[in-house]
Amino acid sequence: MKDRDALRSALLAWYDAQARDLAWRVSPADRRAGVRSDPYRVWLSEVMLQQTTVPHATPYFLSFTQRWPTVSDLAAVEDGDLMAAWAGLGYYARARNLLACARAVVHDHGGVFPNTEDALRALPGVGAYTAAAVAAIAFDRAANVVDGNVERVMSRLFAVETPLPDAKPELKALAADLITADRPGDWAQALMDLGATVCKPKGPLCDRCPVSAWCAAHLGGAPETYPRKTKKADRPRRHGVAYVLTRGEEVALVRRPPKGLLGGMLGLPTSDWRAAPYGDAEAVAAAPVAAVWRDLGAVEHVFTHFSLTLRVFAAEGGGDFVWTPREGLGALPSVFLKAARAAERLL
Ligand code: SF4
Repeated sequence: MKDRDALRSALLAWYDAQARDLAWRVSPADRRAGVRSDPYRVWLSEVMLQQTTVPHATPYFLSFTQRWPTVSDLAAVEDGDLMAAWAGLGYYARARNLLACARAVVHDHGGVFPNTEDALRALPGVGAYTAAAVAAIAFDRAANVVDGNVERVMSRLFAVETPLPDAKPELKALAADLITADRPGDWAQALMDLGATVCKPKGPLCDRCPVSAWCAAHLGGAPETYPRKTKKADRPRRHGVAYVLTRGEEVALVRRPPKGLLGGMLGLPTSDWRAAPYGDAEAVAAAPVAAVWRDLGAVEHVFTHFSLTLRVFAAEGGGDFVWTPREGLGALPSVFLKAARAAERLL
């Protein structure tokens, strides 16, 4: 790219002045003074931030790092405790991978994160993006850290006409061309900040953008039309029934099978989740125990690969369940929390 060095200098100068103050971040000034990012904190934040916003992830990050200040502390946690602490962040496979990775760092690397992208990538649950982010931010490796934000910035800077997802390799190559051995960690974070705070998906703030002079989409007059996209197929919908069985102030929960969606988590008993809606008689027939079941309506939940309509039925009764006080339901995965809350409201 023509003027690549000038573009880089403009973005890094902006980052030095405007970097977001994030709980896991070492400020540009401290980095210049020689303070290094702790790879444990970088890794933990990156795992939490997958599919989760900064404001939502921040209290979890603070609580995790207070309870488990090092990767060795985290590796020693019981699976159930970790799952409970993770509740509300969603995508529970990440929590299982988190533990597997922490334990591998302790057992295979003496409790010290490896410092190359390849070795990081070999850890359980560490994908290409997370390995690149930790390598760049914690170890100042010239790694290409490309997430949706960076793809959007590249598509606009270079007015890439190929629609996503086909454009991904092209956008990655464009991002790679902008990386040098100078401050790769700050560069990765500067791009992340630009995408999050200025080059926003719907309304890019081009008049406040440090790289607008180089931006082909801005100069073309319609930056918000990038990245080009192919029409997305609708998420499939599934249907199920959740059962809120109460015994006094306690609610019946079941432990889900270890593999699969929400594996190993405590949840409300449910029917199978399937393509066809449940009729009233079917919903009662699929209940975990015979009781006088009342229909409390339905809640909606969106998972990565499908949307779920969950009818909620409630009854008083007993049986062989994990009986949990109502006030202990806050640790449930959000889909069950929604159903339990619907019952609380309507009972
Ligand atoms: Fe994004 Fe506008 Fe900056 Fe281009 S000029 S990178 S579209 S904010």
